[in-house]
Amino acid sequence: MQTFTSPTELHAWCMEQKRLGRVIGLVPTMGYLHEGHLSLIREARKRCDTVVVSIFVNPTQFAPNEDYDAYPHKEADDLALCQAEGAAACFLPQPGDMYPQDASTWVEETRLSKGYCGAQRPIHFRGVCTVVAKLFNIVAPDVAVFGQKDFQQVAVIRRMVRDLNFPIEIVRAPIVRDSDGLAKSSRNTYLTPEQRATALSLSRSLFAAKAAVDAGERSAEVLETAIRQTVTAAGWAPDYATVVDAETLVPLQQVAPGASAILLACRKDGLRLIDNILL
Ligand code: AMP
Repeated sequence: MQTFTSPTELHAWCMEQKRLGRVIGLVPTMGYLHEGHLSLIREARKRCDTVVVSIFVNPTQFAPNEDYDAYPHKEADDLALCQAEGAAACFLPQPGDMYPQDASTWVEETRLSKGYCGAQRPIHFRGVCTVVAKLFNIVAPDVAVFGQKDFQQVAVIRRMVRDLNFPIEIVRAPIVRDSDGLAKSSRNTYLTPEQRATALSLSRSLFAAKAAVDAGERSAEVLETAIRQTVTAAGWAPDYATVVDAETLVPLQQVAPGASAILLACRKDGLRLIDNILL
C-alpha cells in the first residue's frame, strides 16, 4: 500500500492509475477507523480496482468550541487496517498540505445543509463540502463511498456532486452497528459505560419506529413523539427527531415507505450522538 501526504504526489499517482485503466474508489475518513469505515473500504473494493482511503481530521468542519483538538488518532493501526482491507493507497495530509494559510475559497451547499446538524453546527457542512471537493479534485475518483451513519452528509455531498457536475458516483453504505444496536462511531470512545448504556435508547427508538411503520403506522408525529419519549426517559435530550424525505431531507407529515428516513440527534453531558434509519 502506498502512503501519501502530498496532494500533488497523490494526484500524479491517481492519474497514472487512470492511465492504466483502473477504476478508482475514494473513501474519505477522519481516521480512528472502526468496522463502519472498513465496510466502506470493502464496498469500494467491490466496485473499483484501486481504492484510496483518506485519513484527515479536517479543521474547517469543526467550530472553535468543538472537539478538533481532542479528536482521537491511531495512525499506525489505521494504516494496518487499510492495508488489510486491500486499499491501494492511504492519504494522510497535514492541515498545511490541504489548506494554504491564506485559503479563501469555500464550497457551500445552501439548502440541505441548513437544518438538522447544520442548525447546530453552522460551518460544519461548508467545511465538509470544501474538503470533499478538494479530495475529489486530488484523487479524481470514479466512485466515492460514504456512510449512511452521516445521513445528512451524504445527501449534501450528493447535491454538491449534482450541482457542480463532479463525474463521480456517490455510494451510501449501510450503518454498521455494535451487536447491541449502537451505531459505531469514532466518538463512541468518549462515552462512559453509563452513557453508552443509555445511548442504546437512540437505536432502540429508531428500530421501534421502523417496526411501527412496518405494522402500518404512517404519522410522523406519532413516530417522532415516541422517539422523543424513549430517548428522554434514558436521559438524552433530543436535538431533533424528524421523519424526512430521504433525498431532499424535507420534513414529512406522513411516512412514504421506501423514500423516507428518520434523523435523530441527542445530547447528554456535553456529548452529542446522531443516528438514523431508512423506512
Ligand atoms: P468519519 O471518520 O467519522 O468522518 O467517517 C468517515 C466515513 O465513515 C463517513 O462516510 C461516515 O458516514 C462513515 N461511517 C462512520 N461510522 C459509520 C458506521 N457506523 N457505519 C457506516 N459508515 C460509517
